[in-house]
Amino acid sequence: MSTGPDETTLPGHLGPGTRARVRRLAERGLYDEATVFGILDEGFVCHLGAVGAEGVVVVPTIYGRAGRTLYLHGAPGNHALRSAIACGQACVTVTLVDGLVLARSAFHHSVNYRSVMAFGPVSEVGGTEEKRQALAVLVDHLLPGRGADARPPSEEELRATRVVRFDIEEASAKVRTGGPNEEPADLALGHIWAGQLPLRLAAGPPVVDTTGAVLAAVPGYVSDYGRAGGPPC
Ligand SMILES: Cc1cc2nc3c(=O)[nH]c(=O)nc-3n(C[C@H](O)[C@H](O)[C@H](O)COP(=O)(O)OP(=O)(O)OC[C@H]3O[C@@H](n4cnc5c(N)ncnc54)[C@H](O)[C@@H]3O)c2cc1C
Repeated sequence: MSTGPDETTLPGHLGPGTRARVRRLAERGLYDEATVFGILDEGFVCHLGAVGAEGVVVVPTIYGRAGRTLYLHGAPGNHALRSAIACGQACVTVTLVDGLVLARSAFHHSVNYRSVMAFGPVSEVGGTEEKRQALAVLVDHLLPGRGADARPPSEEELRATRVVRFDIEEASAKVRTGGPNEEPADLALGHIWAGQLPLRLAAGPPVVDTTGAVLAAVPGYVSDYGRAGGPPC
């Protein structure tokens, strides 16, 4: 059941609204499109949560973003996508882990992260043209430039793919940066190492598929693959 966009949301902002309002450590909450879309564009795996006939279902899946819309895809019989369509509403989260935060106390150990939680309606993409565009968005979201190179889906492949659109009605970003929060008394514990261990997704050397008749040169979007953003490691 949609509550609709919140009227207090500023232009260019996706919250705070009724659902997307960071309450715990509210100072870490951000609602501007630049921050939210930046996180969505750096990530490519989301968790789609919806209420299905058998209860709540949460599924990890890839996505592509076009404006305020996320596209997801799967097999026509995909249980999670079918549940989300039947429910009509979903919650999607995306998490980027930037590092481990080691405090002197066990209590204050933490993680540096950038995450998004978005709420909105879910619907099936039925039209062939929107389906094609959605799948191109998905492929380009994984590797910008790949859509132009890959063979487009055939009619049969389109029929064998369920495409879902999730329209972001409200969203919040929550971002943690920096070192550990320490109890003042713990700063005297000089024998315990404390600080941050930055983490980053890194591409390894490309592995060519040798089953093709002719082997194409490695494209730049593969050899130079990287997902921009995040604090420096
Ligand atoms: C990084 C990532 C990206 C993915 N991208 C896509 C995508 O773009 N499209 C797509 O269709 N699928 C994708 N998958 C697979 C997806 O998570 C589901 O397995 C798939 O969509 C089938 O969903 P279903 O509801 O039909 O599964 P069903 O087989 O009907 O689910 C039945 C049960 O199987 C188990 N199960 C299902 N999926 C998983 C899982 N991923 N991990 C552990 N247990 C599971 C659960 O217990 C679930 O209740 C991705 C998975 C990962 C991890």
